[in-house]
Amino acid sequence: MFDSLSDRLAGVFDKLRGRGALSEDDVRSAMREVRVALLEADVALPVARDFVDQVTERAVGAEVIRSVTPGQMVVKIVNDALVEMLGSDTAELHIDVNPPAVIMMVGLQGSGKTTTTAKLAKRLAERERKRVLMASLDVARPAAQEQLAVLGRQASVDTLPIVAGQTPVQIAQRALQSAKLQGYDVLLLDTAGRLHVDDTLMAEMKAVAAASNPVETLLVVDSLTGQDAVNVAKGFAGEVDLSGVILTRMDGDARGGAALSMRAVTGKPIKFAGVGEAIDALEAFHPSRVAGRILG
Ligand code: GDP
Repeated sequence: MFDSLSDRLAGVFDKLRGRGALSEDDVRSAMREVRVALLEADVALPVARDFVDQVTERAVGAEVIRSVTPGQMVVKIVNDALVEMLGSDTAELHIDVNPPAVIMMVGLQGSGKTTTTAKLAKRLAERERKRVLMASLDVARPAAQEQLAVLGRQASVDTLPIVAGQTPVQIAQRALQSAKLQGYDVLLLDTAGRLHVDDTLMAEMKAVAAASNPVETLLVVDSLTGQDAVNVAKGFAGEVDLSGVILTRMDGDARGGAALSMRAVTGKPIKFAGVGEAIDALEAFHPSRVAGRILG
């Protein structure tokens, strides 16, 4: 198990109890502990470095409130900065547009994209009373389209009937047409994943985006992939106009560092967190809870 950051900082500051303001030296030794805590939580190295620099600036000279120890004071400053960086509030979807609002789901194969598509569809149908249609554009992986149909039945959400031999763009166009004609409010497009970010994947995604004009493009990332998640995010953010991120497998033992890395690299809000395999295991992303988890 990890020592909590508060415990570690208590050690660093033991000698300093009772001083008025945090000196640069005090803060620097505390920040070494903060950096270790971030790296143990799987925050990407450059992101951890930037974060520590920012917080150092903020913490030097800060007055220690009488009722807390210097260690607690630094933890508070770090926690506030984390919450701020993770997005101070729960981010919403912007789907109140002329229907159908198209949501495009992108990500690597195995990230949990198809499951998350169905989870999100169910959430929109149940909580927001939206009429939702889902379509799988994954013609590369055998049975991917059937997988979404099965999930759709579990979630009581309609899926576009499968027509063999169509390209992803053709499926997207057909889905859009059906959604318009049949009065759906939201159309969720589950794009094909690949094992790596590659040119074919990106070209296909751009073509689908051009054909369907999504209002939300959500990147699905496995929170357990830690440092790798940064490369995935960079790859996608450089090519498509992302509107947000969904982190899956937050029920696992990930400390949540991927959240900070994602936010820093894409500049986009994390909108939801997947918290299990069940079809309703999707939660709004709460920055303060995750900040607590990162700090341990
Ligand atoms: P895709 O290849 O990205 O479409 O991935 P899938 O949606 O097929 O998911 C791969 C596996 O991850 C499945 O067994 C899912 O049940 C599982 N999965 C997806 N999201 C979560 C999550 O938030 N938590 C857990 N524990 N498992 C998940």
